[in-house]
Amino acid sequence: MRTNWLGGVLKRLFWTLLLCLIIGLLSGYLAWTLVVGLSLYLVWNLRQMLRFHNWITLRPDEPPPETKGVWGDIFDSIYRLQRRDNRMRTRLQMVIDRIQASTAALSDAVVMIDKDGRLEWWNHAAERLIGLRAPDDSGQHVTNLIRDPRFVSFFEQDNYSEPLDIPSPVDENTWLQYGITHYGHGDRLLVARDTTRLHNLEQMRKDFVANVSHELRTPLTVVVGYLETLQDSDEPLSPRWKRALQQMQQQAKRMQSLLNDLLMLARLETTDEVSEVQRVDVPRLLLGIRQDAIALSAERNHRISLEADEGLCLLGIDPELRSAFSNLVFNAVKYTPERGDIQIRWWRDERGAHLSVSDNGTGIAPQHINRLTERFYRVDSSRSTNTGGTGLGLAIVKHVLLRHQGKLDISSSLGKGSCFTCHFPTERVAV
Ligand code: ADP
Repeated sequence: MRTNWLGGVLKRLFWTLLLCLIIGLLSGYLAWTLVVGLSLYLVWNLRQMLRFHNWITLRPDEPPPETKGVWGDIFDSIYRLQRRDNRMRTRLQMVIDRIQASTAALSDAVVMIDKDGRLEWWNHAAERLIGLRAPDDSGQHVTNLIRDPRFVSFFEQDNYSEPLDIPSPVDENTWLQYGITHYGHGDRLLVARDTTRLHNLEQMRKDFVANVSHELRTPLTVVVGYLETLQDSDEPLSPRWKRALQQMQQQAKRMQSLLNDLLMLARLETTDEVSEVQRVDVPRLLLGIRQDAIALSAERNHRISLEADEGLCLLGIDPELRSAFSNLVFNAVKYTPERGDIQIRWWRDERGAHLSVSDNGTGIAPQHINRLTERFYRVDSSRSTNTGGTGLGLAIVKHVLLRHQGKLDISSSLGKGSCFTCHFPTERVAV
C-alpha cells in the first residue's frame, strides 16, 4: 500500500517534469517552464490539503470530496475508517442503552459512584427509595445525600462484606439494605433493596418471643413457688410424690432460665445500647464471676484461676457484660470434668482488650464450632440437658459482643479442651 502511494506520487511528479521539459525545450524557456510547472504542482497539492482540512473539520460525516490520485486514496481510507468507527460507536451506544434500560427497570436502587464518592448515574428506583433528584444531585458526594451516620461509617470503611440495614432517607418506615461493590478504577456500585417486609416480619418475631416469654414468667413463678411450698411443707409425702415434685421443680427452674435467656436476647435485640454505656470495672466483675463459678463447681472441685490487668476497664453495659462473661465461665465449669483446670484471663494489647476463658474439658469437634452461637444449637443435646443448659448462652455472648463492637473467637480440640476469647476494640478500653 505504502509503495503504491509513493509510486503514485513519483509518477505524477515524473509526468509533470517530463511535460515541463518538453514544453521548455520546444519554447526555449526550460528553466521558467520548470518553475511554473512545479509551482502548479505545489498549488494543486496545497489545494487538496485545504479541501481535506475543510472536509475533516466542517463536514466530517459527509462523503469526502472527489479527487484523483494519492489524495483520493487518502480521502477514501480516512472515510472508511470513520465509517467503521461510527458503526462501532452506534453498536456500543446500543449496548449501553440496553444495560441502562434494564438497570433502570430494576426494583432495587442502583447508584454508580466515582472514586471520589460522587454520584455519576442512578436508576428510577434510586429516586423513589433514596430520594435522589436528577440532575441536581449528579456530582454530589453520596454522604451529603444519605446522611445517616451509620451509612457514612459504612461507606467510609473499605470492607463491604456485610450489608447495612437502615431506614430510607425518604421515609423512616421503609427499611433499606445497602450493599456496595468495587469496580473499575476505584469506582463503587451502591445497591439498595427495600427490606421493609422482612424487617417487619423480623420485628414481629422478636415482639412475639419477648411477649410470650414475659407472659409466661408470672404463671411460672407461681408454679415454682407452690412447688417449693409443697416440698418444704411438714406434711409427710409419699416417696413417689416426692420424686415427682423434685422433677417438676427441676424442669420448672429450667423453663425459668430459658425464659430469662429469651428475654435477655429480646432485650439485646430491641434496646438502644448507647444510652446505657458506662465504665465497667471488668477485673472486679470477673472476681465475682469466679466466686459464682466456684459455687457452681461445688464438689466437682475445678481449679479456677483468674489473671486480670488491674484497672483495665471497658466502656459498656455492666449487666450485659456480666451475663456474657459468666455464660463463658459457667460453660467451662459445665463442660469440664471434675478437678479440671479453668483459666480466666483479661489483658490489653495494641489491638484492644481481650478476655479468654480456657478449660481442659470435653472440647468441641471442629464441625460444630461455626454453629455454636446459633440459638438452641447444642453439640450433644443429652449432655446439655444434664447440665441444665438452654442452648442460648453463646447466642447471648455473640449479641452482647456485637453491641460492644467485639468479636468472639472459639478454638477447641475434642477431648483436650476449649478456649473462648472475646476481643474488644481500643475505643472501648478505659483505664
Ligand atoms: P448451653 O446452654 O447448652 O450450654 P450454649 O449456647 O452456652 O448453650 O453452648 C452451646 C453448646 O456449646 C453447648 O451445648 C456445648 O455443647 C458447647 N459448649 C459451650 N461451651 C463449651 C465448653 N467450654 N466446652 C465444651 N463445649 C462447650
